[in-house]
Amino acid sequence: MSEEKSLNFIEEIIEDDLKAGKHNGRVHTRFPPEPNGYLHIGHAKSICLNFGLAQRYNGKTNLRFDDTNPVTEDTEYVESIKDDVRWLGFEWANELYASDYFDVLYGFAMSLVKQGLAYVDDSTAEEIAAQKGTPTEPGTANQYRSRSIEENVQLFEDMKAGKYPDGAKVLRAKVDMASPNMHMRDPIMYRIKHAHHHRTGDKWCIYPMYDFAHGQSDAIEEITHSICTLEFIPHRPLYEWFIDKLEIFPSRQYEMARLNLTYTVMSKRKLLQLVNEGHVDGWDDPRMPTISGLRRRGYTAASVREFCDRIGVAKRENLIDVGLLEFCIREDLNKTAWRRMAVLDPVKLVITNYPEGQEDILHGENNPEVEGGEGGRDIPFSRELYIEREDFMEVPPKKFFRLGPGLMVRLKHAYIIKCEDFVKDADGNVTEIHCSYIPESKSGQDSSGINVKGTIHWVSVPHAKTAEVRLYDRLFKSENPAAEEGDFKDDLNPNSLQVITAFVEPDLAEAIPGKGYQFLRKGYFTLDKYSATDKLVFNRTVTLKDAWAKEVKKG
Ligand code: ATP
Ligand code: MG
Repeated sequence: MSEEKSLNFIEEIIEDDLKAGKHNGRVHTRFPPEPNGYLHIGHAKSICLNFGLAQRYNGKTNLRFDDTNPVTEDTEYVESIKDDVRWLGFEWANELYASDYFDVLYGFAMSLVKQGLAYVDDSTAEEIAAQKGTPTEPGTANQYRSRSIEENVQLFEDMKAGKYPDGAKVLRAKVDMASPNMHMRDPIMYRIKHAHHHRTGDKWCIYPMYDFAHGQSDAIEEITHSICTLEFIPHRPLYEWFIDKLEIFPSRQYEMARLNLTYTVMSKRKLLQLVNEGHVDGWDDPRMPTISGLRRRGYTAASVREFCDRIGVAKRENLIDVGLLEFCIREDLNKTAWRRMAVLDPVKLVITNYPEGQEDILHGENNPEVEGGEGGRDIPFSRELYIEREDFMEVPPKKFFRLGPGLMVRLKHAYIIKCEDFVKDADGNVTEIHCSYIPESKSGQDSSGINVKGTIHWVSVPHAKTAEVRLYDRLFKSENPAAEEGDFKDDLNPNSLQVITAFVEPDLAEAIPGKGYQFLRKGYFTLDKYSATDKLVFNRTVTLKDAWAKEVKKG
């Protein structure tokens, strides 16, 4: 975080707290994922914020799994979440689980029962909903609300002991059935669920609700600043009510806007549907907005952190242009990616005056953005090359600085060539381009005196490696697929993945997993996790320019 930047509203709160000497100057945040799916870029925002605040104020951040819902949760998700947080570059002070607090939470609940502040309700879910009233009409108390403390103690113990089936009873806080805030109308604290939990096994058949687990977990961990998203604003009075009545550590909740991104969906429930219904190749499909998907796509942790820093922390919902995320990775890869040549749509080019069987070993640096180029690689050159089909035109327009009959161009890292002739097949497709080369024009030692405007990339035919190249586009056709009524999957972009076979320079056979490569003039690419020495697979991380940006008027 740059120092000149003005403070965001949470930093302002923290600085005020520090000035007031609150919590003895201690800052302790937490990141509380529910392990019911893989983390997405929205979670990255929360991670960067929570861990970033702790770093800035010499504090700590807990990683707390909010695992109070045994049905949807899984250890696979726990492991992926840990991987993703680490990959983003953060280390937690403590790895904790809300389920570790089940005994304490039960004790808290029992103490509220004994204070007459919680009761066991036998109503069905429908009855409870009906009795809740509406935002404009108060709710109504039922006969269970006036149960005696003794009876409630007994019933709650029996709930825990497994005497009742799922849904037969709930434990509710006795707050205020007439509160203008619906969350305060005797919210449910515990429900019965005879389900196996991924950590506590079959020990429990009652599980606390979010509202009776989250704030209490914050308090147990003595979290000073508990940051969540805006939809929890109406839960805040309840968060404080429980802390107040239980007389536990006074954690405080602060709300920020969720990150919403164009052309994608962000809820784990929807992402899970895409995975389960086979619309994508798993949670880490490179088109997914998950952290693992971005990683497989070739995003760097630095670029994701930069993105989170740029979007900042707002108090109002908004929709961020995915172009900003792409901008961040482009900026990063421009500085770090190694340059290579790959021909994605090949046509053969023969250099007629270059002896058959001869080869040149040329040299190209890895990264011209860095002093010294970060080393380099050998690039073999021979009589037969592949070039991009689009770099040749039979009847080129003016200012086409590439190849066409009689035109000259420089082959990157190699020589200047002149197009002499070309061959077409019966269908009129160009199948071969014939050129002559100028031996004195070799890059780095050019004494030809010839100036050409264009430079094109190429790969030597006998040395080329084939590679499968996956070109990704946006997963959805519409900017906000979640917005409209109906099935968000109707908005899936049918052309979000194009698989092609390309020819790449031989050095790419040793491409480094996780490393970004710029295929000259073609974009940024990285090895896919399923790539193998005998079958190279590259994912396109991002194009060199924003193809979706509005056409800027050329001056
Ligand atoms: P989802 O609806 O995708 O499951 P969630 O909020 O239920 O999201 P949790 O695992 O409960 O997911 O969230 C862990 C933390 O990440 C919470 O503090 C939550 O507020 C935060 N978070 C989740 N999604 C976003 C988002 N889009 N933008 C910012 N923070 C988010
Ligand atoms: Mg959730």
